[in-house]
Amino acid sequence: MTELLIKGGTVYTPDGPRKAGVHVSDGVIARVDAAVEASSGARIIDATGKYVLPGAIDVHVHSRDPGFPEKEDFRSLTAAAAAGGVTTVLDMPNTVPAVDSSGVLESKAALARAKARVDFGLWGLIRSSSTADQLDELAAAGAVGFKAYLGYAFSLSRKQVLYSVEMDDPDLEPPPDYGTLARLAPQVARLGLPLAIHAEDPAVLAAFRRPLLTYRDLLDSRPPEAEAVAISAVAVLARESGVWLHVAHLSSALGLRAAEDAMRSGTSLTLETCPQFLLLTDQDFDRLGGAMKMLPPIRTAADRDALLDGLRRGVISIVSTDHAPHTDEEKAGVFEDVLSGAPGVQTLYLSMLQVAKDLGDVWLAPRWLCEAPARLAGLEESKGAIAAGYDADIVIVDPNRRTAVRPAGMRSRQRHGALDGKEFGFAIEEVFVRGESAARGGRARGRWVRRSRRAEPAGLVGLGEGR
Ligand SMILES: [Zn+2]
Repeated sequence: MTELLIKGGTVYTPDGPRKAGVHVSDGVIARVDAAVEASSGARIIDATGKYVLPGAIDVHVHSRDPGFPEKEDFRSLTAAAAAGGVTTVLDMPNTVPAVDSSGVLESKAALARAKARVDFGLWGLIRSSSTADQLDELAAAGAVGFKAYLGYAFSLSRKQVLYSVEMDDPDLEPPPDYGTLARLAPQVARLGLPLAIHAEDPAVLAAFRRPLLTYRDLLDSRPPEAEAVAISAVAVLARESGVWLHVAHLSSALGLRAAEDAMRSGTSLTLETCPQFLLLTDQDFDRLGGAMKMLPPIRTAADRDALLDGLRRGVISIVSTDHAPHTDEEKAGVFEDVLSGAPGVQTLYLSMLQVAKDLGDVWLAPRWLCEAPARLAGLEESKGAIAAGYDADIVIVDPNRRTAVRPAGMRSRQRHGALDGKEFGFAIEEVFVRGESAARGGRARGRWVRRSRRAEPAGLVGLGEGR
């Protein structure tokens, strides 16, 4: 029996923060109470003056593994996650080969299990050619949900999701569209899994296509109308099919408005945004250059303020990173050619504690990073909370010590990110994955996690509302 007692800290429990001791036995939280006595042989950690928080569940990361080891792999991804207090990651299916069948899902899980330092779940991919049988198989094999990339074609020879509007290449299968989702959403609903979308309408994007000479060109080429139209259209299909629609990386005020309209008309819909959309605006481009190029793009101060307000009101319930590393070479050079995406998993917790504090309630952070993500992932019976019977995924944070984001301290293969140079008024002290130390060379090893619950959209509308 490995025993652990974390005492003296302010613990974020399902009933809110309180002073308590957290007793851990064999990787599981045994008790949360005022008792300070540990059983003999227990490791005791004095967390006086510290926060004791549930580990974060980042529902949107790109491990690049298998496919692009020069960018990242499960070892470097999960080392960065562990260092930042993210104890579970949900990996997106656009690795290579893409996760469009149970066979690919299972081999990816085996590969990840050998390398992971934190727990992980895997998303399955919806292609325009996907069948209901293929979705059944993926669900049975343990996919946490399905992701559809509107406007992203599929290379049949490379088994790879590609952004492309040049569809004359016979190797390219057309992107999934509203027809694909109208056909498959009822099946996803029956399977009890969420349907996540990359929400940019390809027809709107095509109408605004232009050379990307400046950051303004990037914004003009990816207008918020593209996000809003995609959300509205898929929301109709979600409402009719009863599927749980999850909108990835919400970036705009207009997209938020479209989503709120859909929620009001009875769509079961969750919204996810990312720290980069809350901490940066187009005004940061002169300082950051290609490091902040991503899709959808980081927009204006008005968009940032709308997203912050959506979080404050509980309409946006989840914050993920869309951690998407590339090599230094791929992030440098002519702006048009710089690849889109940036790492972020290591700075998620600290950045969002800061955002929550600045919004006036630091305890909003574990709701965005732990509680709501656990529901999306179907893990709400084992993860996302500090309570008896839950996995001992625990982060100890010092609220009186600052952390500056410096590339040298990053564990991801891509050390340069869009938040370089930011400073947060918190520091990670210790991270436990199922009771094992995970930060700074700890012994924790990751497990593949699968849903223990169906995605039940009933009561979901405005998840986080009124809290
Ligand atoms: Zn992504």
